[in-house]
Amino acid sequence: MKETAKRLHLFTESVIREMTRIADQYGAINLSQGFPDFDPPKELVEAAVNALRSGYNQYGLTWGTKNFRTALAEKQSYFMGMPLEPDLHITATCGSTEAIMAALMTVCDPDDQVIIFSPVYENYIPDTILTGAKPIYVPLHPPDFQFDPEELRDAFDTGAKALILCNPSNPTGKVFTRQELEFIAALAKEYDTFIITDEVYEHIIYPPYQHTYIASLPEMFERTISCGSLSKTYAITGWRVGYTIAPEILTQGIRKVHDFLTIGAPTPLQEASVTALKFPKDYYTTLSNEYAQRKEIFLRALDEAGLKYVIPHGAYYVMVDISPFGFEDDTAFCHYLAKEIGVAAVPGSSFYPPTQDVPKNMIRLHFAKEKNTLLTAGKRLQQLKNL
Ligand code: GLN
Repeated sequence: MKETAKRLHLFTESVIREMTRIADQYGAINLSQGFPDFDPPKELVEAAVNALRSGYNQYGLTWGTKNFRTALAEKQSYFMGMPLEPDLHITATCGSTEAIMAALMTVCDPDDQVIIFSPVYENYIPDTILTGAKPIYVPLHPPDFQFDPEELRDAFDTGAKALILCNPSNPTGKVFTRQELEFIAALAKEYDTFIITDEVYEHIIYPPYQHTYIASLPEMFERTISCGSLSKTYAITGWRVGYTIAPEILTQGIRKVHDFLTIGAPTPLQEASVTALKFPKDYYTTLSNEYAQRKEIFLRALDEAGLKYVIPHGAYYVMVDISPFGFEDDTAFCHYLAKEIGVAAVPGSSFYPPTQDVPKNMIRLHFAKEKNTLLTAGKRLQQLKNL
């Protein structure tokens, strides 16, 4: 048999998904793969059942059903503070995961370079490699995960085609300030670089931090593909409903790629998503407050277990320092944690590119869980004090 494709050797299996399998194997509380253990709002489940019963069971329009795109344009126009046209700017995708892939395939040729901040949500590396492009990494320096402006300029200076911006950031919880975004935007304009965002945590922000959409900065809409999803905002990660928002010329390219990748996102679930997109604006305030409470409960539990961490400003992840435990590395620690303590985490090293000095003393935990689940996990983590 001939060998399989060389590109398969350029990236590994997802460690996040692997940790979910390990959590299941040991019956551990799964604080590794970031998804809720609570149900979405009841109306959404009703809306999905109704959509299935109302004949929305065949392919929809490849770039998204009219109802979905219209409702999304209205909601995002409000939050992004700019007029968006359902027919010109919006494409429905299978989660932000497909949106980012379609965006990269729209702007990148083989051997182009893509700037990626590190630590990085692991998908961006294989996504870039699958387009044939090459990632170049710009470190976000702990403890507050700031980039060095000169290091960023050097990356742009290589002639990179695009930059991927995860804001609020997974795994660090960093929320890019307006000044940081203005700096990135200025470089993107100077070097004529595309920006591809991943803004799935746009509504999970802890005051006083605020989310700024880079596409809303002056002259940035025309070079930005904003990728988003309904997964985290409405607790429906399994629905696989996401989208891109981009200027007309880029949207035409994205729709072409998207059509051949997946034809379309699930029709009944796009229709049901309209109910979510029409929720009153206070839904988003409540969402953010609820996550702030989960964060407080969980950080207190980490304090009680004697763990040190970086306080997240957005999203629902926290990077925890495991240096005091003297394990060989973070992977060994995560296996021990799942098996012996009953809590599953993701080794921090899986968020670093192999080209960099990879820290082995961090793990990522998430707190998108019921309060009781978080309290139980906290109690279990206290056993670490005996180590
Ligand atoms: N975004 C979530 C995380 O980082 C889910 C990852 C995934 O399975 N795609 O854990």
